[in-house]
Amino acid sequence: MAANRKLRLILCFLITSALWAAPPQPPRKPRLVLAIVIDQFRYDYLLRFRSEYHGGLARLLDKGAVFTDAHYLHATTVTAVGHSTFLTGAAPSVSGIIANEWYDRATGATVTSVSDAATKVVGGIPGATGSSPRRLLVSTVPDEVKMQGAESKTIGISIKDRSAILPAGHMADAAYWYDSDSSNWVTSTYYRAELPEWVKKLNSEHPYRRFIGANWLPFDAKDDSAKPFCTMVAGTEVRYCGSLEATPWGNEMIEEMAERAISSENLGHHAGVDFLAVSLSSNDYVGHAVGPDNPAIRDISIRTDILLGKLLDFVDQQAGDGNTLVVLSADHGVAPVPEVNRKRNMPGGRLDKDVINGKIAEALTKRFGPGAWIVPGSPANMPYLDLKLVSTLKLNLAEVQHVAATAAAGVEHIARVYTAQDLATGAVQQDAISRAFTLSYYGPRSGDLFLLQEPYYLFDASGTSHGVPYNYDNHVPVLFLGPGIKAGTYRGAIAVNDIAPTLAALLGTNEPSGSMGRVLTEIFQ
Ligand SMILES: [Zn+2]
Repeated sequence: MAANRKLRLILCFLITSALWAAPPQPPRKPRLVLAIVIDQFRYDYLLRFRSEYHGGLARLLDKGAVFTDAHYLHATTVTAVGHSTFLTGAAPSVSGIIANEWYDRATGATVTSVSDAATKVVGGIPGATGSSPRRLLVSTVPDEVKMQGAESKTIGISIKDRSAILPAGHMADAAYWYDSDSSNWVTSTYYRAELPEWVKKLNSEHPYRRFIGANWLPFDAKDDSAKPFCTMVAGTEVRYCGSLEATPWGNEMIEEMAERAISSENLGHHAGVDFLAVSLSSNDYVGHAVGPDNPAIRDISIRTDILLGKLLDFVDQQAGDGNTLVVLSADHGVAPVPEVNRKRNMPGGRLDKDVINGKIAEALTKRFGPGAWIVPGSPANMPYLDLKLVSTLKLNLAEVQHVAATAAAGVEHIARVYTAQDLATGAVQQDAISRAFTLSYYGPRSGDLFLLQEPYYLFDASGTSHGVPYNYDNHVPVLFLGPGIKAGTYRGAIAVNDIAPTLAALLGTNEPSGSMGRVLTEIFQ
């Protein structure tokens, strides 16, 4: 018996040692990364309509890694900044993407985050100026994969050029966006001289024609007697949708384009990992028009879930089950419509840019003399001062900024005003909001003043908007699903900036050059 026990112990020891010695199995690498942004999709949209999701969002929520407390680090929660952060992990202070558009001091013109006079649109109105990622100063995860050298493809798709271009990065094979002037899917000469045949074919099918004169009915409407959310027919009693982009059909067109890209570009079948970055824009257009509390938001959210289910099914079928890593987030949330808030005894209201700029100009004129102090066309929340005037009068810029800031801060419902000097030198109140503004400041591009309104106040004259570091704008979904991902609900606070370094770790590639997130190791299998 004693010998038997000894033998068992030895066997046990050998087996245990063998297990200890076995190298850890690296998780299977995905063949395709499907990186999805829903434009203007607040975190609470996952909760509010959860019981009605049975498609793609439901699949991600049930089988994926779900982060319940993901926020952006930056203050300027707008589309270009959210999309540039998504796959770079970089804040605007490093990526250089400080807003959707800004005043370019060198040329004296307003530029967008992706406008590029050196390029032309391909596939749209002949001769129209194109777009490119040249203003993005950092790499994306797909760029890092490409720089590693393995054969891989990256495609970006959205209605908006910035949302197609910025996640895909510099080395993308193409970014395609919807050009409403020509009603075509287009790209720019930055990527290629001509549209590929499959895009030409889709354009020749004129997908938009399916929706001419259509009514947007509830997703579960039994027949045409239901009340439409809006109509594509102008001049009726029903609200006019405005454009195809501002209906769920805009998203349907994006999804159709994504399916064509997957099959035509053979995504998921290259030696290296492929990337498809898809941004669903219509949620944003609808959200701006009606606000988060309108029934149309429930409808388009449920339709988004259904549409994502279709896309995920297609991806599995094309790239093979379990070969795709899906990551989904949103570029920002949205504020309630101020009038809706007021009715329910919540704070909120609208601010007038002209009034604020008038106060600033008045204070500067009083102190330093008359002049066109503010550059015309400056954004309401980030005025640019006329630096030539400051220099001609031999003034100290920091002092001029300070006088302007004091005037702006005196306007009712302006919560804070930072100057460029404050942010550049760190002379700010030490809290999360100041940090968010510091991370949003990039000297060569930013304005002179940074205005933050009180929560629920907007600079817009109608509808609603986003763009501040309050929770309703910066708390968004972050969901992962696919090989190597441990499903579960993760309640700890994370930054959306963590997505990029996490993808880099999962794919075994360099972290993007400006990434400032951490690797979400808790979701690794
Ligand atoms: Zn957006």
